[in-house]
Amino acid sequence: MLRQVAEGVLIHKSEFCQSNAVVVQGRGGVLLIDPGVLGEEIACLANDLRELGQPVVAGFSTHPHWDHLLWDARLGAAPRYGTARCAASVRGLLSDAQWKARVAQFIPPDIVEQVPLDLLGLITGLPAETARIPWDGPQVRIIEHHAHAPGHAALLIEERGVLVAGDMLSDVLVPMLDFMNAADPIEDYLAALGLLEGAADGADVVVPGHGSIGGADQVRARIDQDRAYVHALRDAGVSGDPRIGPAATYDWVAGVHERQLQLLAQRSERDGTPG
Ligand SMILES: [Zn+2]
Repeated sequence: MLRQVAEGVLIHKSEFCQSNAVVVQGRGGVLLIDPGVLGEEIACLANDLRELGQPVVAGFSTHPHWDHLLWDARLGAAPRYGTARCAASVRGLLSDAQWKARVAQFIPPDIVEQVPLDLLGLITGLPAETARIPWDGPQVRIIEHHAHAPGHAALLIEERGVLVAGDMLSDVLVPMLDFMNAADPIEDYLAALGLLEGAADGADVVVPGHGSIGGADQVRARIDQDRAYVHALRDAGVSGDPRIGPAATYDWVAGVHERQLQLLAQRSERDGTPG
C-alpha cells in the first residue's frame, strides 16, 4: 500500500526491517528509490503503480547493499541509477560467478527464498559530481558521502522538502559504519552527518531506508541522535541510545553495536593509538 508523505512523494513499506521504498511522481511517470525487499511486496508495488497509470521511468539505489539493489521485471526496464562508486562496488560483486550465493549469506534465512535476486544491482553509475538525478520530474539532489557503504547517497527532493536518507537517520537502527572501505569510519560518518545537516533546512520530512518517516522536528533530532551515537562509539562510552536499549525495536541491533565497539578497538590497537 502506498502512503503519501509529501505532495507527489509516496512510500511503500516492506515488512522486512521496516524498509521504505520511495516513489516520486514526475511528468511522465515515477522515480523509484530502493524498490523494496520481498518479491511479493515489489510485485504489489508494481501493481499499485500500474493501477495509478504511473510507469517507472527511473530507478535509484542509495547504496550497494543487497536490500537496496533489488528489482522486479514487472517494474519495467527504466534506467536504474546509483553513484559511480555505488555502481563500481556492485560491478565488483556481480563479477564473481558465485555472487548469488555470496549475497544470500547476508539475507536472513527465513526470507531468502522470497528475495528476487535475478535483477539485483543492474544499475548505471552516474558520473562523480553529478548533482541531480537525470529524469523528468522534481529535482532530486544527490548528496554523496562516505559513511555506511561505498558511494552511499542521500537524496533531497528539494521542491517537496523530503530528505531520503538511505541507511542513515533511522529511528530503529543505529549508524552502521563502513569498516570495510572507509579510511576513518568515525570521521567519515561525522562528515556525512555534517553534509546532511547542511541539507536539513530544505527538509520537512525525513525518510530513512529502515524505520519510520520523520516530520520537520525529526530531521535535526535524528542527525543529533546519530552524531551522539557515533561520538559515544568513538569514545567507547556508554550509549543511552534507545535503539539499543531495553525498548529497542530490534534486539539484534545491540549486537551490531557490540561488534562496532570491537572493530574500533582492533583498529586503534593496530594503529597504535590509545583506544
Ligand atoms: Zn545498508
